[in-house]
Amino acid sequence: IKFNELQIGEEIKKAIIEMGFEEPSPIQAKAIPAILAGGDVIGQAQTGTGKTAAFGIPVVEKVSTGRHVQALILTPTRELAIQVSGEIQKLSKHKKIRTLPIYGGQSIVHQIKALKQGVQVVIGTPGRIIDHLRRKTLILDHVNTVILDEADEMLDMGFIDDIESILRQVKNERQTLLFSATMPPAIKKLSRKYMNDPQTVSI
Ligand code: AMP
Repeated sequence: IKFNELQIGEEIKKAIIEMGFEEPSPIQAKAIPAILAGGDVIGQAQTGTGKTAAFGIPVVEKVSTGRHVQALILTPTRELAIQVSGEIQKLSKHKKIRTLPIYGGQSIVHQIKALKQGVQVVIGTPGRIIDHLRRKTLILDHVNTVILDEADEMLDMGFIDDIESILRQVKNERQTLLFSATMPPAIKKLSRKYMNDPQTVSI
């Protein structure tokens, strides 16, 4: 499959070309059509395979302008949150959507101000997301897409309770995507509990 054959807007195709991507990577070729179809998807892929754009392209396609947070991406570390945010920003260069990375160690006041500007895509580490949910400075009522990025790493870091608590605060009529390099039993259990008939794509 070619990027041009995907059911995505011209503004995203333009951004993809500007990023220098010529062909979808194998995980992108499998995951992007599956995610665009609307169902839950488990993607088994390591970092370096293009997994960020594999979920980033469909997310940018799906998100519309408006004041509410529509997509929430959870990452194990602040570095990954910043990296994913940068990639989504590039993919959405020609779309008027705002992306914000939220992580521990950065001033919460600064993050609260940024959230108040109206953000459509939030990328964050579980602990800091929970902090904002408790303060009601982040509202997930309009979130229709949740992505767990490097899910195995998040579980290894002990974020399971935070992840479950976050997932319980998002409406059930949502699309849930889970990306992980490995599929230990704890990940399978999480997917059974919080995903709806997920399709697995691996490379
Ligand atoms: P990731 O696995 O998401 O960390 O991506 C690894 C690197 O590959 C990043 O620098 C991406 O910008 C780049 N990349 C992602 N998809 C493609 C593609 N289809 N063609 C060329 N580079 C890509």
